[in-house]
Amino acid sequence: MADTTLMSIPGQVDPVPVARDITPREDGRVDLIGLPKKDITALFEGAGLDKRQAKLRAKQVFHWLYHRGVTDFEAMTDIAKTMRPWLAERFVIGRPDVVEAQHSTDGTRKWLLKTSDGHEFEMVFIPDADRGTLCVSSQVGCTLNCRFCHTGTMRLVRNLTPGEIVGQVMLARDSLGEWPKGRMDDLGDEGEAEYNADGRLLTNIVMMGMGEPLYNFDNVRDALQLVMDGDGLALSKRRITLSTSGVVPAMARCGEEIGVNLAVSLHAVSKEVRDEIVPINKKYGLEELLQACADYPGASNARRITFEYVMLKDKNDSDDDARELVRLLKAYKLPAKVNLIPFNPWPGAVYECSTPERIKRFSDIVFEGGISAPVRTPRGRDIDAACGQLKTTAEKKSRAQRDREEAEAAVQAS
Ligand code: SAH
Ligand code: SF4
Repeated sequence: MADTTLMSIPGQVDPVPVARDITPREDGRVDLIGLPKKDITALFEGAGLDKRQAKLRAKQVFHWLYHRGVTDFEAMTDIAKTMRPWLAERFVIGRPDVVEAQHSTDGTRKWLLKTSDGHEFEMVFIPDADRGTLCVSSQVGCTLNCRFCHTGTMRLVRNLTPGEIVGQVMLARDSLGEWPKGRMDDLGDEGEAEYNADGRLLTNIVMMGMGEPLYNFDNVRDALQLVMDGDGLALSKRRITLSTSGVVPAMARCGEEIGVNLAVSLHAVSKEVRDEIVPINKKYGLEELLQACADYPGASNARRITFEYVMLKDKNDSDDDARELVRLLKAYKLPAKVNLIPFNPWPGAVYECSTPERIKRFSDIVFEGGISAPVRTPRGRDIDAACGQLKTTAEKKSRAQRDREEAEAAVQAS
């Protein structure tokens, strides 16, 4: 049996994360990725274009950024040749830097990415027969300390910006070769067909990478709005799922202001066990969480809430746990489906995965209770890309230590 005696867990249970400041680019140029069209318009106006010009140019540039995926103003062929260097002097079209790209034997791909100010985070692409899902990170590290999660052992380094969040989707499209080709200013019949290229590999997005998306609410919302915008990446909100460990006060806003599918990391059905494995439960308990799910705007039988349940040996996997899960979901009349996630191990983890027989039995009980409970096949375990295995190397340093190092580096550079 796994040694699951309680250790003291460092870190706060419900901190209000203060975003670390983003270091501005040294060349003073502004990254356009992640900005809504109206902000791009305002920037163009601020840089000297008149109102009408600014609006027109912003519309054109926005289209090139999100429909065509260009990263160079020179490629914007319907913008006057003289205007392109003017743009390039003032603005950039950013992408997160790729530090390393790995390929799993099962087709899963993982990218280790870096922000322009040097913080590493990860993104995972999971291809399936009928869909391709991109697992996007919302923070570098995580403030929460779920005990079965590798990311939870990292400190929060900083929130990712809207540009860094939507930038992951852009980068995935770059890597998968999924931008339409051909000239946008000269679309013949063929060009049009190419431009509306169907059959894309990247069809779904899950906010299930590193971090707690609802603790970076505004940036996640702004990024997903660009992903859903018909003039932006134009992905349907039905193909986007946001997973939260249970930040109850932000859940209604998530439904109202973002409107994507909701997944909740439930993982336990008693206060005792959930307090231990998902410590935010001490702040927002099970009843509050389930009530917030029942009130989630947009949830219905056609759009069910997914309850994620990690299978931990002798911790949360008994027949009684399965029956209690059914009882709870029914008591709150939740349009629910349950995703059973076999625990993915990582070095130093104190839990073990339940046996396949146990998981099957648990799944059967929930099914018999009338709730769908498929077992998620772990993907990309060989490259540590599976749920809860994401962790980058910046983790061990405290914020104070990093600040000291940055100050020293600045002194040396001066
Ligand atoms: N922070 C958000 C989203 C990221 S985690 C959240 O907690 O919901 C995505 C899912 O993977 C969550 O359900 C999380 O609980 C689960 N998970 C974390 N560590 C895991 C592990 N080692 N094995 C299996 N699932 C894990
Ligand atoms: Fe953070 Fe989610 Fe991991 Fe919990 S499971 S530590 S909320 S990333």
